[in-house]
Amino acid sequence: MKIKIPREIKIGLYPYSVEAISQLKLNEGCWGVSNHVRRKIKIDSGLPLLERNQTLIHELIHVISESFRCSLDEDNAERLANGMGEFLFDNLGIEFDWSDIPTKE
Ligand SMILES: [Zn+2]
Repeated sequence: MKIKIPREIKIGLYPYSVEAISQLKLNEGCWGVSNHVRRKIKIDSGLPLLERNQTLIHELIHVISESFRCSLDEDNAERLANGMGEFLFDNLGIEFDWSDIPTKE
């Protein structure tokens, strides 16, 4: 089943915009970034699809942690993201469709 990634994802009180950024890894040193002040989730547009999907889950875990004050550290965010990824992608067979997310510089 394909699920279209929306341009905005509302977690807690606030909508976060989802953006695919070219050269994010080169410029910011990571495949994904969540900014809780600007309420943006940025994912490197150059990532292969599976890694891009997993990176979005990882950043969403950070947003959920921030929104609901879970205080997850990086290692636990990664563990939860891996578990969610296995459930969504490996068990349910969900695929993410990024066609609504424009690539920005
Ligand atoms: Zn992280």
